[in-house]
Amino acid sequence: MAIQLDSATRNSLFDRIRFYRDLGLTEFYRRPVDPALLAQLAAEPEPQQSRSASAPEPASETKKAPSQPLFSQEEQPIPPRKPLPIPPEIAAAVPPAGRAAALQLIRDEIGDCTRCPLHSGRHKLVFGDGDPAARLMFVGEGPGADEDAQGLPFVGKAGQLLNNMINAMGLKREQVYIANVVKCRPPGNRTPAPEEGATCSPFLFRQIDVVRPQVLVALGATAATYLLGVRQPLAGLRGRVHAVRGTQLIVTYHPAYLLRDPRQKKEAWADLQIAMRELGLKPPAKS
Ligand code: SF4
Repeated sequence: MAIQLDSATRNSLFDRIRFYRDLGLTEFYRRPVDPALLAQLAAEPEPQQSRSASAPEPASETKKAPSQPLFSQEEQPIPPRKPLPIPPEIAAAVPPAGRAAALQLIRDEIGDCTRCPLHSGRHKLVFGDGDPAARLMFVGEGPGADEDAQGLPFVGKAGQLLNNMINAMGLKREQVYIANVVKCRPPGNRTPAPEEGATCSPFLFRQIDVVRPQVLVALGATAATYLLGVRQPLAGLRGRVHAVRGTQLIVTYHPAYLLRDPRQKKEAWADLQIAMRELGLKPPAKS
C-alpha cells in the first residue's frame, strides 16, 4: 500500500536526498514496512491535535504498547552494488592540430544514440564544448534542462557559476573543455543509473584521451566516481591530486550544489587553487 506524502514533505525529502547525493552518498534503500502494520495505521483515528501539553494522556494511550514493530523483522537483503565499469585502454595521443577532428569522429560515432534509456527523454544530445587542446578540462554529471534545450554543457545557472569559477582562475571558458559523464539528460535531473553511466562513460574517456588536458576537474560525486572508478564520499576525495588516464585529477563540488549551499564556495575555490598550482596559474589581479 503506497503512502501519499504531502507536497511539502515530498519536496523536503527530495532536497535532503539531493543534498546527500551532492556529498557523494548516492545509494539508498528502504526497509520494507510490514503491510499488516500499514493497514493498522491506516485504520487508526488521527491523533488529537488540540490536547494541551500538561493534560494527562488518556489511559488507553499511556498503556498502549505497539502490537507490532514499525519495520518488518525480516529485512530484505540489500542487493550487491554493481561494479563500476572498467575504463577503456588509454588511446594513442592525437597531435593538437588533429584533436577537433578526432572529437568530431567520436561525436559521429555516438550519432543519434539509443544505447541507453536516457535517449527517450532528451531533446538535444550534449557532447561537449570548448578548446579541443585545452590544458584544463571539467567533467560534470549530465545535462540539465537548459543544456538539454541548447545542446551545450553548463549553460544554465550552474553554468554561469562555472564560468565565474573559470574566470576567477584567470581563464576564459573558450580556453577549457567541458563534458559530462552522460550525454543525455536524466529525467528530473536524477543521478544517472549505473547502466546509463556504464554505457555512456566510455565516450567521455575517449574525449579525455583526445583532449589530453594537463588537469581534469571532476565536478561532483558522480563525475569523481566514474573518473576514479571508486565509490567514495566527496569529502575523502577533495583536497588532493589524483592520477587518471595519465593526467591529474582534482575533485570539487558541482556548481549546482554550490548554488544550493553557497557556504561551500570557499572550499571549492581551495580545490580550484590546487588545479591552478598544477597548471602554474596565478589568479588575475583585482582591478
Ligand atoms: Fe547514448 Fe549516452 Fe545518451 Fe545514453 S546517455 S543515449 S549512451 S549518448
